[in-house]
Formats: sequence, C-alpha cells, structure tokens
Amino acid sequence: MKESFLAVVLPQDLEKRWHPLWLAVRGLLPKPEVEHPPVLEDLVMTGDATALAPFGFEHHDVVIEPPQKSRPLWNIPTNLLSDHDTVSASELHDRLACPLKWTLHYPAKIRPGSMAELPDDHQLKGTFCHSIFERVFGGGGELPALDAAVAQALAVFDERLPLDAAPLAQPNKYLERQRLRSQIENATRIFVSTLASGGYRVVGIEVALAGNAFGKPLNGWIDCVAKRNNGEEAIIDFKYGGRSKYHALIAEGRAVQLATYAYGRSTAGGDFPAVAYLVLSDGLLFTPSGSAVHGTAQHASISAPAIQTVWQKFSDAVEAAGDWLTSGAPVPARPLQDSSEWPAGATIVLKEEPKADEVQEVCRYCDFTRICGLEETT
Ligand code: SF4
Repeated sequence: MKESFLAVVLPQDLEKRWHPLWLAVRGLLPKPEVEHPPVLEDLVMTGDATALAPFGFEHHDVVIEPPQKSRPLWNIPTNLLSDHDTVSASELHDRLACPLKWTLHYPAKIRPGSMAELPDDHQLKGTFCHSIFERVFGGGGELPALDAAVAQALAVFDERLPLDAAPLAQPNKYLERQRLRSQIENATRIFVSTLASGGYRVVGIEVALAGNAFGKPLNGWIDCVAKRNNGEEAIIDFKYGGRSKYHALIAEGRAVQLATYAYGRSTAGGDFPAVAYLVLSDGLLFTPSGSAVHGTAQHASISAPAIQTVWQKFSDAVEAAGDWLTSGAPVPARPLQDSSEWPAGATIVLKEEPKADEVQEVCRYCDFTRICGLEETT
C-alpha cells in the first residue's frame, strides 16, 4: 500500500528547531523536493499545482472582510442576562467598568482554552510568592522573630521552587531565580516588621471573605488578615508587582478591591479594618492614611481617604449603574465609550483620560478584546 502526505513549511518555522518526526521524514525524501518545495504564492499566481500531485489545489478570489470594528453598545436580549447569585470584588469591578465583559464572563460563561491559561512568568512568580507566604504564615498566631521568619521563607522558597515553579528552576533562569529569592526576603522583612511594630498577629492567610453585599453572599479570599489585641483588624493584599499602579489606586481613593474586602469583614459586626497593599517584588507596603495599618513606616502611609469612604462611593456607583441588566437597554462596553456617556461614579474604576498607549485596567486581562473590537483581528 502506498500513501502520501502533504507537509507545509511556514516561514516563521524556518528558524525553529525541526520536530523529530519531520527530521525523520526529511531523511527519506529526495533532496531537491526538500530544499526547493513549491512556494504557495507561485501556486496561486500560476494556478499550476501539478507539483502537489496527488493532492488537489483549488483557489478562489474572496473579498477580505474588514476586521471587527470596536462596538461600544451591544443589543443582548434581557432574558439572557440573568443576574449572578453571588458577588465578589472582581465581579463588582467588572460589572461597573465593563458590563459587556461581565456578561460574557458570568451569564455567558465564556472562558479561554486551557492552553491560554498557562501562567506567564509574572503570574507564576506572583502565585509562587503567595504560596510561600501561605506556607510560612498560614497557620496564624504570633509572628515569628524577623530573622527566623526570613530564614523560613527562604527555606520554603528553595524547597518548593522545583515543585511549584519548575520553569524558574531551569538553568537559564538563574539570575531571575536569585532576584525572586531576594524579593521574597525583602517582602518577608517588611511584612513581619510592620505587623510586629503595629502589634498585630496573623489571623490567617487566604481567609475566606464572608458577609453580604447587594443582598447576595459576598465571595472571595483575602490574602492576609491580621489583628491587634484590642480587636482592630488589618487586611493586607499581596501583589507581585505594579508599585505605581497600587500607589495610585490608594492615593486616588480607587482601591475598590481592598474596599470590598474591608466591607466584607465589617459585615461580621466590626469596624472597617485598616488596609494595605504589599508589593512583593519591591518590598513596599502602601496604606491609606484614613485606614492606616499601624506600624507602617511614615513614607508608606499615603494621604488618602478611609477605605469605608471608598466602599461607599464604589457601592453607590454599582447601584446606580445597573439599569442595562434589566431595562432592555444595550449592554455597554464602557472603555469603548466616551467618558461623557459613563454613569455617575464610574471613574472609580475607569480612567477618564488614559494616556495614548494605556488601556483601561478592566481591559488588561480581558479575554474578549477581539470580540468587542478593542483588538483588531488579523
Ligand atoms: S477588552 Fe475592555 S472593552 Fe472589551 S470587553 Fe474587555 S473590558 Fe470590555
């Protein structure tokens, strides 16, 4: 029996290492066929595809469709827009910042394929650092002495890196690995020294968010909850990078994720807790002066409103901006609209005048950039 196969070589693959299967096949083919294969453009120009026999080759003229234009308003039947039965910080953020993203993610449940979910280096480092803090401090209780905490964090780093962050354990990642190790060391120092001088102990790492908001259960996980002997709480959210971004979110009273967590803790009957971002890669802790974590170094306390005020503004804006969900009005992709069309208060999650090369935060990790037209299809 004789069989045939058609191999197609793409220009972008010429500089890559050959696949072992193709290497084996190449060795069996006549040299001229391997070194001078028919070129697709020539086949299209001449219409002569005898060189491809026994394979057929048809070509037709088609009108090229222009890429999807960006579309700020979407007509979606109201019966497809079921509300979500729980709320979370990211769900509320997306609902206000881009109802189209919210609709595609929650009611329509559109998710990227599993290949697209492989973490990039930045995500991997963030997840790995979180996991180290969870292993070292997750048991809660009194804080260990500073040097003991650092030694423990570094020991966990060395032990878990090949298991939990294998791509970073490769020989060619030596420098990156060393940098990450020293980042963990700095972040641990800041974390322990701040909480210790503020008189806190750790309640838990990855603490489930409880409570209700907008009449629904509030879901989520808080990176770190700490408590003083007098009952005052502090919430610390770990971020791997983005020092300017998180500094600005606090300074501008737009830290809605922290505000949602703080509100959730307060619904258990307590006051709104103090809040902070710990930027792990820089070993920096940012806290708003209105809800400052005790023990924070002077330079890390940012003149900013109390987190309760941020929650009030955020929840008012979410409440006032939900008409598209039930009224039959088109579903807006707000980042694509002119800011004059945004509902009152939406600027707590959307920048009114982003720089020319800047996208709105809600679009940065959005899976639907090609659906809404923010990104052109090619
Ligand atoms: S890319 Fe931006 S505008 Fe488009 S759906 Fe996502 S969040 Fe909305």
